[in-house]
Amino acid sequence: MNTLLVDMDGVIADFETEFYERWRRRYPDEYIVEPDARRGWNMELQYPEHLRTQVRDVYMEPGFFSSLKPVAGALEALNVAAAAGFDVRVCTAPMKHHRTCAQEKIGWLHDHLGSDFAHRAIITRDKTLIHGLFLLDDRQIIEGVNQRPTWRHIIFDTIYNREPVLAHEKRWTWEDFRGFVRTGSMEP
Ligand SMILES: [Mg+2]
Repeated sequence: MNTLLVDMDGVIADFETEFYERWRRRYPDEYIVEPDARRGWNMELQYPEHLRTQVRDVYMEPGFFSSLKPVAGALEALNVAAAAGFDVRVCTAPMKHHRTCAQEKIGWLHDHLGSDFAHRAIITRDKTLIHGLFLLDDRQIIEGVNQRPTWRHIIFDTIYNREPVLAHEKRWTWEDFRGFVRTGSMEP
């Protein structure tokens, strides 16, 4: 199998930076977790309870997901992998209870990676049901109904997921991903 599954938010689309820009604009005097102090995949949980609805409102706003900037190095790496013959598929879970998130994500793929990537994208709330050689994702725990997914979970390295959660964590930067494309080995 040469299907590579790649998550979207926090891996190819820069969720955090867009959040910070909108939060500062909306609530210039409000408490903020500075980018280098971010810990844990779930941003909401790092804010005090009384601010969590406000945090959520920022990314629940229509247009938030369309506005995300690409993560540095991501688009180039995916294009290189596709050109090398890999079946590269963006595999993403749309935000729960969000009316336009899935549509915005497909639009984003059209704009930044082209219609072929948009066409191959997999939108699912359960990534364990999808087959692939690996799943590159910034989330450390991927749960679903299938206890034995076919993919190997590789954590995309970010500042907020460096706290080890799993016993045998494998983490990559885009440089490591490109190393895999060059050598075919998951142990660059
Ligand atoms: Mg993600």
